[in-house]
Amino acid sequence: MQTHILGYPRIGSNRELKKACEQYWAGKTSLQELLEVGKTIRKQNWKLQQEAGIDLIPSNDFSFYDQVLDMTLSVGAIPARYQDIASNELDLYFAMARGHQKEGLDITAMEMTKWFDTNYHYIVPEFQKDQPFKLFSNKIVNEFIEAKEAGIHAKPVILGLVTYLLLGKEKEEGFDKLDLAQNLLPVYTEILKELENNGAEWIQFDEPFLALDLDQKAKEVYQSVYAQITQQFPNLKFIVTTYFDGLKDNLSLATTLPVDALHIDLVRAPEQLDAVLATIPETLILSLGVVDGRNIWKNDFNHSLIFIKKAIAALGSERVFIAPSCSLLHSPFDLDLEKNEKILSPEIKQWLAFAKQKVSEIVTLKKLASENPDYNTLQQLAENKQAIENRKVSTLIHNQDVKNRVAVTTESDAQRNSPFNVRKETQQNALELPLFPTTTIGSFPQTKEVRSWRAQFKKGDLSAQEYDHLLKEETQRTINWQEEIGIDVLVHGEFERNDMVEYFGEQLAGFAFTQNGWVQSYGSRCVKPPLIYGDVHRPQPMTVYWSQYAQSLTQKWVKGMLTGPVTILQWSFVRDDQPRSTTCKQIALAIRDEVNDLEKAGIRIIQIDEPAIREGLPLRKAEWQNYLQWAVEAFRISASGVEDATQIHTHMCYSEFNDIIHNIADMDADVITIECSRSQMELLNAFADFKYPNEIGPGVYDIHSPRVPSKEEMVALLKKAQAVIPAEQLWVNPDCGLKTRHWDETEKALIAMVAASKEVAAAY
Ligand code: GLN
Ligand code: ZN
Repeated sequence: MQTHILGYPRIGSNRELKKACEQYWAGKTSLQELLEVGKTIRKQNWKLQQEAGIDLIPSNDFSFYDQVLDMTLSVGAIPARYQDIASNELDLYFAMARGHQKEGLDITAMEMTKWFDTNYHYIVPEFQKDQPFKLFSNKIVNEFIEAKEAGIHAKPVILGLVTYLLLGKEKEEGFDKLDLAQNLLPVYTEILKELENNGAEWIQFDEPFLALDLDQKAKEVYQSVYAQITQQFPNLKFIVTTYFDGLKDNLSLATTLPVDALHIDLVRAPEQLDAVLATIPETLILSLGVVDGRNIWKNDFNHSLIFIKKAIAALGSERVFIAPSCSLLHSPFDLDLEKNEKILSPEIKQWLAFAKQKVSEIVTLKKLASENPDYNTLQQLAENKQAIENRKVSTLIHNQDVKNRVAVTTESDAQRNSPFNVRKETQQNALELPLFPTTTIGSFPQTKEVRSWRAQFKKGDLSAQEYDHLLKEETQRTINWQEEIGIDVLVHGEFERNDMVEYFGEQLAGFAFTQNGWVQSYGSRCVKPPLIYGDVHRPQPMTVYWSQYAQSLTQKWVKGMLTGPVTILQWSFVRDDQPRSTTCKQIALAIRDEVNDLEKAGIRIIQIDEPAIREGLPLRKAEWQNYLQWAVEAFRISASGVEDATQIHTHMCYSEFNDIIHNIADMDADVITIECSRSQMELLNAFADFKYPNEIGPGVYDIHSPRVPSKEEMVALLKKAQAVIPAEQLWVNPDCGLKTRHWDETEKALIAMVAASKEVAAAY
């Protein structure tokens, strides 16, 4: 029995990599200094795993930006537009990741997208027809040698050839990226030869696509690629890893690849173990992913041991590996760094394990599964059992009122009083909005001052009163200004919020926070997701104070601003002791309370943001409808407690709607605002084709760029929108919130936006 890790977080225990990269990009440090930081992090990670007693320690799991981009550089799939950047390898690499604007050159970055259903983003490979590949970067071999010099006989982690191709994008017509496999194979061979020459024994190929829907052609490419690789390297041992879902219909494909070991995710798909054990060929080693690599909960040893013992009984211990479910890239670094008991209470902390702790769990599980675990190990099992028991019965977690309320929630709670066509008329009479009404998505610039007030308030340098006063002034300025330039539906500006999920999590029961629980999102960007540990409810109103204050300053409507239940769920670490759908329903009821209280306080337009609905889609199509059913229901529960006259908005960014448009319609928001400008209104077609009945605000300008759009540009976009959606359904707004913008850009852009709306409306 051996233990191994699929990959370790590389941001460093205190986000050293983030800081080092950003300093280097800003020209404040040298390349040499940056390379040193990388080296130190790698060495620390290796030592940590070695000291914990892991048998197979990964190399090449480190990355300065992204492991997919690393592979692109390794195999020399460098898009032609970067050819003139005559600099070192790392600068070329960063240019591909971030674009290059220097010395008169302006080269766009490569596209970035989500890594399966995680919040990690990878850089999408770009392929041409007859894409040439050649060995370009020696990172994989170099890091193996570096590990050897540090006394570690590492297992290089390489993005599997088929997965690498499937992650990429065809940049011209007339070919299928999978046809590139034969071009690419010789480069993989070259890398493997070098690794073999340097003494490598085990090679890990990550092939998460084996756990996704595959067509016949992809299956055949899998077979052919792995037959060729293993034939050429009879002396190397290969482990193919799958994660994030079960093998399902790809079971026999995966178990018959001629490799030495197969890794399966038993956290996401525990039910697959029996099927795998029933069909696994006699020579294959099975790696059991029993420790959750994507969540923060302590492993339940007794539960994992059931799987491990079952596998040992079927295969013998020599054919069993123990591992986390996936790379620990998605876990925060080290729970030991959470020292402030006021932020994370000891009771909650005892239920948690971050990456470093998960490494120890793997080693302990191996000892526990051996014939005669020593006294110490048995002690650890007893402690583990105690912590798991504590969590099951903790009064911190379980709130009978919340459970009862969820149990009695019915269909009718997810239903507005009247259908949209009736509501629309009521709302028209109540709100008296013009044609092409203008609004914004919620946040206004979070200036340096606003952020410094919050920091000072948190440190205690500003009193609650002073802080409140400053925020009120900022809100008042913003309300007055919107009124002045003629926006129809105003917002208060969200100055009191740090983040659209954290702000609510901090006020809801059942949420905890960490000081240092950072996880890489993309490049140097990290997120610190809240942790939902218990039954969620809302002890008291969360936003009424600010909305009511803002509304008191103006005769115009001020829109209340909330984050929706699916987005709060999606951007948090969630409970593993109940289905996501149950947690989501609890959050939905809490948001519903807030919506109802806003209405009572005189707020007649309320927006419930749901930018994360689409990203929550399961990886397998067969599971989409089930997810969409509870996700849409959760939104409806949050939105349906109000009178017909109260107008509910929702907002979504970076989404495509084609394949989920009927579910979006099912949400039955009176108004939906979407990000649209970069697609030149193309995203609206899904709504037009569907004859979407409710109102829509397609974003008329991109808020991700400091560029100020002209009135004419926005008029043109509105005309495009109007060509496919009836005018009486259209709203005018930016793509998303304005918190990352500066005031001068924002002022110019919104003044032009109001003028554009007036011009289009005048034609009626
Ligand atoms: N109301 C939020 C804001 O304006 C919405 C942010 C988002 O959609 N990501 O910032
Ligand atoms: Zn948005």
